[in-house]
Amino acid sequence: MIVVAKCPKCDAGLPVDASEAPSAIKCGGCGRDLPLTFSPALRGDAGVDRCPVCQGADFYVRKDFDPKLGLTVVVIGALISGVFYWFGRDIIAYSILASAALIDLVVYGRLKDVTVCYRCHSEFRGAYQRTASSFDLHTADVLELEYERKIGRR
Ligand SMILES: [Zn+2]
Ligand SMILES: [Zn+2]
Repeated sequence: MIVVAKCPKCDAGLPVDASEAPSAIKCGGCGRDLPLTFSPALRGDAGVDRCPVCQGADFYVRKDFDPKLGLTVVVIGALISGVFYWFGRDIIAYSILASAALIDLVVYGRLKDVTVCYRCHSEFRGAYQRTASSFDLHTADVLELEYERKIGRR
């Protein structure tokens, strides 16, 4: 399992392999030492039960989607269709725009789920069974506030 540990101080994402992760890593962003406690389930890629960064046990799953990539497909599609539109080929223009949107949908549907920690936003990718539910705004509000108080951000 690959874990992207989020530094509590500077929010840098630090990728670590859970099966061979050390008990602490140094943040590449701010140089702070980040202690990590991996549970056996994390090490064995069996499931996400406890966050190695903040020790929280509350997670949600979301699609592992890069919004920038989806936007790029649509923007490129819009540019190409704009050229056809300019030359009066508006049917071709519309179909290019439609296929760009379709590509986005297909890409989105095939994405895997990634588990995210509510408190510190660390991410967990691997072959393990996803058990967390989808994102809940109220839970996020409560847990993020609790975590930020704990690390002294608020
Ligand atoms: Zn940092
Ligand atoms: Zn966490």
